[in-house]
Amino acid sequence: MNLNLVVDMYGCPNRCKHCWLGHMPNKKMSDEAALFIVNKFKPYFDQITFYSWLREPDFSSDYEARWQKDNNLSTGRKPERFELASFYQLVRDPNYVKFLKKVGVKKVQLTFFGLNEYTDYFVGRKGAFDELLKATDILIETGITPRWQAFINEENKADVVELLHLIDHLKFKQRCKDFSFFVHEGSCDGENKKLYGIRIQNSHIPDELIPFYLDYEERFPESECYRRLIDSKDHFVPHQDQDIVLNISAEFDVYFNFTALSPSWKIGNLKTDDMNELVRRIKEEDIPALREARSIKVSELVKLYGNPQSEKVFTLEDYQIYLLNTHLEH
Ligand code: SF4
Repeated sequence: MNLNLVVDMYGCPNRCKHCWLGHMPNKKMSDEAALFIVNKFKPYFDQITFYSWLREPDFSSDYEARWQKDNNLSTGRKPERFELASFYQLVRDPNYVKFLKKVGVKKVQLTFFGLNEYTDYFVGRKGAFDELLKATDILIETGITPRWQAFINEENKADVVELLHLIDHLKFKQRCKDFSFFVHEGSCDGENKKLYGIRIQNSHIPDELIPFYLDYEERFPESECYRRLIDSKDHFVPHQDQDIVLNISAEFDVYFNFTALSPSWKIGNLKTDDMNELVRRIKEEDIPALREARSIKVSELVKLYGNPQSEKVFTLEDYQIYLLNTHLEH
């Protein structure tokens, strides 16, 4: 079994209002810290893959050396790129796109919330929209395919439609045959849980966007999620059945990658906890949030926290993690 260590070594330039990880301060971690983390796990796991970014990839001035260090620290599979890159870096450092090309990146996902005003607001940084457009041009000119994703809610829904017109106007599909665009509402945890009030309602999804909506058939109004789950005898217990993926904060706190980094999901701390005990919790998935998940049926969660009148859109999985996190906050 491969152990993936995903470490928040540099943070992120953005403060997206939909960020499922939750907002954390940016702290720069040292090479010694990276080695310390890997060495802590080496006696217990033969195959380790090390990632120096939990949030923005390559958000470090020495991104190329860092990528090499991540590879060198990995005793199992080498780290992957996941069609992700830093648009912050793309528009500031002309060498960055060459690096992406060199390490074999073929596609990069860029995130929008509508046009200028909404994108800057929801990314949490002025100028983000212009940077995303510029990053798109840079990628196309270098032969890397941009994939635009848009997060939709009740406030920005009309603006997200405008993105379709902008894509036509800027001729992205003519300039890059594989250019693609998709829309979704995002999960409802971390920062995005705070946007429950403006979560898109099923009947308010603009018709033009339905062909671009991610897995549209698997999205339901909350009332339908409620109806499907109200008699469920199951427990909703997130579980890692292949690789183990651990998210590690700049404070050396360790979490599974199921949801936002919040206290009841914490496995332990690499500086202060006994490693035998911490690894036992990982292998047995024994943490407060999962213990609670095993003790309460989905039907009870729905009864306690669901709204049978709501038309807000969810996948069944996102709805259950939303309910579980709501329960854990009480
Ligand atoms: S969603 Fe990604 S880019 Fe946005 S704040 Fe979170 S980690 Fe940073």
